[in-house]
Amino acid sequence: MTKISKKTANTYLTFNNPNIEEKVTQLMSQMTLDEKIGQTVMYASEMDVTGPVLDANYLEYIKKGEVGAVLNASGVSYVRKIQKLAVENSRLGIPLLFGFDVIHGYKTIFPIPLAESCSWDLDLMEQTAQIAARESSAAGLHWTFAPMVDISRDARWGRIAEGAGEDVYLGSLIAKARVRGFQGNLESTNNILACAKHFAGYGAAQAGRDYHTVDMSDIELRNTHLPPFKAALNEGVATFMTAFNELNGVPATGNKYLLDTILRKEWNFKGFVVTDYTSITEMIAHGFAENLKHAGEIAINAGSDMDMQSGAYKNHLKEYLNEKKLDKERLNEAVKSILRMKFKLGLFDDPYRFCDEEKEKQFILSKEHLKKATETAKKSIVLLKNKNKVLPLKNTSKIALIGPLADDTHHILGTWAAFGRENKNIISIKEELENKNIDFKYTKGCDILEENREDFKNAIAIAKKSDVVVMVMGETENMSGEAACRTNIKLPGLQQELIAEIKKTGKPIILVLMNGRPLDLSWEDKTVNAILETWFLGTNCAAAITEVLFGTYNPSGKLTVTFPRNVGQIPLFYNQKNTGRPTNVPNADPRYTSKYLDVANSPLYPFGYGLSYTEFTYSKVTLDANTLFFNTSIKASVTITNTGNYDGEEIVQLYIKDVVGSITRPIKELKGFKKITLKKGESKTVQFEITAELLKFYNQKQDFVCEEGEFKLFIAGSSNHKFTNTFFLK
Ligand code: BGC
Repeated sequence: MTKISKKTANTYLTFNNPNIEEKVTQLMSQMTLDEKIGQTVMYASEMDVTGPVLDANYLEYIKKGEVGAVLNASGVSYVRKIQKLAVENSRLGIPLLFGFDVIHGYKTIFPIPLAESCSWDLDLMEQTAQIAARESSAAGLHWTFAPMVDISRDARWGRIAEGAGEDVYLGSLIAKARVRGFQGNLESTNNILACAKHFAGYGAAQAGRDYHTVDMSDIELRNTHLPPFKAALNEGVATFMTAFNELNGVPATGNKYLLDTILRKEWNFKGFVVTDYTSITEMIAHGFAENLKHAGEIAINAGSDMDMQSGAYKNHLKEYLNEKKLDKERLNEAVKSILRMKFKLGLFDDPYRFCDEEKEKQFILSKEHLKKATETAKKSIVLLKNKNKVLPLKNTSKIALIGPLADDTHHILGTWAAFGRENKNIISIKEELENKNIDFKYTKGCDILEENREDFKNAIAIAKKSDVVVMVMGETENMSGEAACRTNIKLPGLQQELIAEIKKTGKPIILVLMNGRPLDLSWEDKTVNAILETWFLGTNCAAAITEVLFGTYNPSGKLTVTFPRNVGQIPLFYNQKNTGRPTNVPNADPRYTSKYLDVANSPLYPFGYGLSYTEFTYSKVTLDANTLFFNTSIKASVTITNTGNYDGEEIVQLYIKDVVGSITRPIKELKGFKKITLKKGESKTVQFEITAELLKFYNQKQDFVCEEGEFKLFIAGSSNHKFTNTFFLK
């Protein structure tokens, strides 16, 4: 066991009662008010790049036991150094918690979460979260600010890159998988605390502008935005993070309805709530607090237990008590909920439990982790178009490789890349092709943002001499992520113009896209032969894309967000509701239909969509009964046959519609999916069990109910299919 400091040993090994609650109570009885307040304070370290150190004295506060957690510090030697300040200098030697945004990997970077969600592979997502936890815990960290479980239906919003897409059912399962992966049972030092964020409504920011106002009904909140949080909680998530936005007039960080009524009272959450970065301060700009002191008072009373970086709790919490604006029991609850986690992590037994240089060397960027990075990247790719089966490429083809991202090793990691960019062994697609001795010609053609046409002529020249042109294009990594929203979701810069020039050569074009949001690809869809949506795939992006291009891996990803035809259709998602008017009556007078004059209502690429190099044929769906009783289940079965020429994987999806409800219901909802592997010519029967539980929703009284009546369903490889079967709930 790692050596522990003398003071810690003296103070804490006497806590031999196995019951954490008792240990917490015992410790609380020894703490001064300043020490208690200290536990609710989180400061960013000087390693933090997002902002300046809030208070130059923060190391002094740590020595006095007046800080509970540190954010954005990492690496065993650094963490050890700061932890030592706390445990060896402070009166009680209470260890610090170290938190970091380990969003899609620590140094081995996996696809951005949106990309990874397109694998629909829950085990895989659990494994990548586990690896991220293993690498970051090996670097001394205890806590990740992930997963982000915000549902978003707005491609303009930059943080859509960080979530699991637009769907509640899938998003909830992914939330659980990621919590399981990061946290496990917390018994091993390979797991860390997870954090469900941002509570709540952050993904519904008005007009897709980050941090913007959210105003929504309780029905919408409970049916669409809260379920993934509830799912994370049911999986035992240790912490929640508040959101920057206001919800129905009350900033989330000071929102008692969210943090107390729902989270604590209704859901019985026993972990702790951390505010988002300076979100307490931001309540002043929201016009909800007069000053920092007032903002902190609102936040602590609402239920925010730990203050990330605003300084309000550090500087004013004592005053709230003196002025009787805060009940000391509320503070005690907050402190206990934080200490509980420190005990759970075993930090009182050994504050350096997570500091292990050997583990750091052994785990970070290990072969096993890198292998998983390639596997996950391959499974996250979505083939959007493949006219005349131009893909996969033949080894004999003469290839022109063009585009600003073809020889890139920076953008491919996407937003929130933690320490991924310290890895100097990442290679670009160009380098991967060279390593594989593939014959090709390369030129960049254009930049993503700079308007320079000088290389167009080289691009056209190599295209002319080729059989096929692979164009690797997209967004820069910082065009999605936090505070990176766009109103124009087309390919930026001169990229479309370059495609148009290459098109004139008459050569088939394969567009390999890298981006952090659904793009408007209406023009590209009409122009190029194949489109491969690769998002930002992380460390082993190049290997994964090359395997898909040459068919050693048959793409299997399916979209978890709708791709609109243009930005004006947003918000567009597969499970919208019907209006009272028809949408699709040909030749009807447009005044009487609910549609646009200038574009179809339908998306360009729907939720659940994604092509394969092979074809899958679905048989008729059969139900083993047409009546579902509240305490029974019925089974829906379908047989899928691989009728094409490649082995492949298919994501089989079940959609159900509740025909009439006490509130209007979505036109369809995903209620099940299975990912299957089928060899060429092989058939498999897939069965879904439908229970009444699956059909529940929050009604006007905010009760979670299912209602008797008619339901329709279909099972298919995408969301845009017709209903084939009916059953009744009695
Ligand atoms: C983000 C959070 C993140 C925090 C700490 C904020 O700006 O909204 O998601 O966890 O910073 O880095």
